[in-house]
Amino acid sequence: MIKQKWRIPPTQGLGFKLGKGQVVRITDVEGEQIADFIAFRADDTSVRLDPGVTMDVLRAMKIKPGDLLYSNTYSPLLSVVADTVGQHDFINSPCRSEMYELLYDKQSHASCYYNLNQALAQFSIPAPDQHYSLNFFMNTVILPSGQIRIERPLSKPGDYVELRAETDLFVAVSACPCSESACNGYVCTPIDVEIMN
Ligand SMILES: [Zn+2]
Repeated sequence: MIKQKWRIPPTQGLGFKLGKGQVVRITDVEGEQIADFIAFRADDTSVRLDPGVTMDVLRAMKIKPGDLLYSNTYSPLLSVVADTVGQHDFINSPCRSEMYELLYDKQSHASCYYNLNQALAQFSIPAPDQHYSLNFFMNTVILPSGQIRIERPLSKPGDYVELRAETDLFVAVSACPCSESACNGYVCTPIDVEIMN
């Protein structure tokens, strides 16, 4: 039985609490939509999900059921329950207005950085200088030359990931507002968030 459900409108964000043992499902409703995901320990918000540490521990940039996702202090914060896509991004920073200025010459663009900051405000977490997000459904291809290419997500309508909290968490999710590149398939669409238990 689903305990709570939200639909994040295109280009917007959401913050919520996830208690230890609760499972959250994040669904790409229409397909090819990135969901930037961050999480902080509720009892110590200096401890946050860290994709770099998670890569280090997993020795992988892919996740599978049973994998743990780690914090900046190498403690497990979440475990992977399900993943219907298997291709996510561990390395890109969340988009921010300065990125749209630099790369696309666009002013005052909506951004994941802003969405995540707004979502965390209810938990009295001040805006950090940067977020270290796990970017679900983002399809980053690393070429042998060292170049990276952001391709259209592999996620189809209804694809999802499910994560279980290993401790009480504050979580924020942004439905990435970038329509300028293939990253969201050139169109921004909603993300569903459901707490399953
Ligand atoms: Zn974004």
